[in-house]
Amino acid sequence: MIIQLENNISGDRLEKIKSQVLKMGFDHNLVKTQFANYLVGIGKKDIDLRTIGSLEGIEDIHRVSDQYKLVSSKWKLNQTAVDLGDGILIGNGNFGIMAGPCSIESEEQVIHTVEHLKKNHIYIMRGGVYKPRSSPYSFRGLGIEGLRMFHKHCSENGIKIITEVMQVSQIDEMLKYVDIFQVGARNSQNFNLLDALGKVDKPVMLKRGIAGTIDELLQAAEYIFSNGNEKILLCERGIRTFEKAYRNTLDLNAVAILKDKSHLPVIVDSSHGIGIRKYIEPMTLAGVMTGADGIIIEVHEEPEKAISDGQQSLNFDEADALYKNVRTILQAKRQLN
Ligand code: PEP
Ligand code: MN
Repeated sequence: MIIQLENNISGDRLEKIKSQVLKMGFDHNLVKTQFANYLVGIGKKDIDLRTIGSLEGIEDIHRVSDQYKLVSSKWKLNQTAVDLGDGILIGNGNFGIMAGPCSIESEEQVIHTVEHLKKNHIYIMRGGVYKPRSSPYSFRGLGIEGLRMFHKHCSENGIKIITEVMQVSQIDEMLKYVDIFQVGARNSQNFNLLDALGKVDKPVMLKRGIAGTIDELLQAAEYIFSNGNEKILLCERGIRTFEKAYRNTLDLNAVAILKDKSHLPVIVDSSHGIGIRKYIEPMTLAGVMTGADGIIIEVHEEPEKAISDGQQSLNFDEADALYKNVRTILQAKRQLN
């Protein structure tokens, strides 16, 4: 059960509501976000909402008995739009394109990628400075110095930054340079990290775990929301299956299901989702058709020389074609019944 409370509810009214919730046989959890206050009732009982709905201080009340509640579409009928500032939104009809290298490698690379994005009217650049790598001997990113340099060029050019945060201790130093914190597949159920990102007023893009179910992804998102941060993007980036012909299995079923089960925007990452350059465009377009609210694409000026994930990075010309075709598909999709 989700009880939306009046924004400035008095302590007195809140106590009355809490005690009624307990009387009805529910535990409760008070959630205060950037936008609203909620009392989440935890329990499985069948209830008559009229026994509580008339209490003062309640704006709205909804029955949600799933393990995840605040991220569920059962109580929020409108789709969420995540606002990145400066008129850039993702979700609820606003499509987001994010592109850039797997790893931030050099200043020259950032300058050239920013130029490429601006030419294509793209305002969100991706690029990791803390890189989760399967081998400890691989390049692990330029760290906070790299992020400062990345931020300098992006902020001078009106470009927002999405970059991965790997641990709680990095959040504070990254905060002023980041527009979207990315939680990588390997950290999808790092509950301490999710708790901490729930206390920050910055959008978070949460990737699905390598072997994570849809339900687990939604429960992970619930950690962020229930700690106070409603600005969440869900990301399908492929899961590990028995198939060896490609890197991961981009699960477009999940995109359709997430769009139904949750009000949060869904992003498709076909770069990691299939992991082979020549299939990135068709899989991206399929993701758009499936209902994604945005895409995230790995792009590199010279993919052969990329320090990480070159095999799945598009060069600038390939990326130009992809953006154009994504926009064509979006337009065509608007004409469908
Ligand atoms: C990445 O975005 O470069 C990355 C490491 O992603 P994932 O966590 O999906 O593997
Ligand atoms: Mn990558």
